[in-house]
Amino acid sequence: MKPLASISLDLDNQWSYMKTHGDPGWESYPSYFDQFIPNFLNILDAIKLQITFFVVGRDAILDKNKEYLKLISKNGHEIANHSFNHDTFIHLYSKDKLREDILSAEEVILSVTGQKPIGFRAPGFSWGKDLFEILIDNDYEYDASTFPTFIGPIARKFFFASAKLTGEEKEKLKNLYGSFTEGFRSITPYFWNVGKSKKIREIPVSTFPILKTPIHFSYLFYLANFSEKSMYFYLKSAIMLSKITNSELSFLLHPTDLLSGDSVPELSFFPGMDIPSRKKEEIFKKILEILSSNFHLVDMKTHHQLTKKNKIHQI
Ligand SMILES: [Zn+2]
Repeated sequence: MKPLASISLDLDNQWSYMKTHGDPGWESYPSYFDQFIPNFLNILDAIKLQITFFVVGRDAILDKNKEYLKLISKNGHEIANHSFNHDTFIHLYSKDKLREDILSAEEVILSVTGQKPIGFRAPGFSWGKDLFEILIDNDYEYDASTFPTFIGPIARKFFFASAKLTGEEKEKLKNLYGSFTEGFRSITPYFWNVGKSKKIREIPVSTFPILKTPIHFSYLFYLANFSEKSMYFYLKSAIMLSKITNSELSFLLHPTDLLSGDSVPELSFFPGMDIPSRKKEEIFKKILEILSSNFHLVDMKTHHQLTKKNKIHQI
């Protein structure tokens, strides 16, 4: 029996990258769903893989996006909640504002896709205790917002170097990608205990066992840009170490892992957007082949149901 691993995609849309980056024009909510979703669903179909899509509420209220979101659900993929406005600082919200954001996203996601989300991922990994309490009170079964890496502050520095943000905006994002101490957290599922015998499953965005460097697809593409060979070596080493340490992994994807600057010129600033999309597709399929020969690949909901990792962590 192969070890369990889950795959999810944060369905961050074109506008959310532009918004976080401080680019004008995001207010009309430009979307690349037409270029990304049908093609991506075909790729998943061809390899018979079902994954979890974390959907942003704001996208689900716009008519131009609805047919694509319905298509994801129709193809049997799990739909989970990725907040309403995709603010990457929801840990700074009041509890009421946070609840309102999560529940309004849930309402519109349910009405468009027919699925009541039971999983949540905070944009920009901006999680906290209030978030878990709200999720538990509203019948969510898992959270997927933690990113146990030591390199969060470095990633943030890189991001700030290219973004056009005011001091106030930077202040709000000062915890984007998390602090150094995130690296000490577990990379394999566990439960958060929030007190009063309330708990919720955590399925972290896995990182390299022990080293805690990222292994999500965007990072793998970033490495492939320097050398494909070393990227595969890096990935295979992470897999080997995950087996030695008996870890169950969860891999994170983004639309930009398959899109290119030639199809979405507004996002040319994003790392790896200069790789042609055909090349990205080829690398993507190869990575998935490696993953599926080593793991029993499932969506997040199934990972939550099948995992035997039941350690309890206090918050
Ligand atoms: Zn996101």
